[in-house]
Amino acid sequence: MTKSISCKDAGKECGWSATADTEEELMSIVTEHVLEEHKEIELNADSIKTIKTLIKDV
Ligand SMILES: [Zn+2]
Repeated sequence: MTKSISCKDAGKECGWSATADTEEELMSIVTEHVLEEHKEIELNADSIKTIKTLIKDV
């Protein structure tokens, strides 16, 4: 199943979205995007958990 996530779902004013085959792959794409575009988001165990709840199966 394909995994999908978008910044809009997280309530961000950002048109970015991504899909990947696995959650691990998607999280590494998300991490890259957050580090580049959303420096206000601190990536820690809590925020990563929250991000994972936004992942959808498509
Ligand atoms: Zn974004």
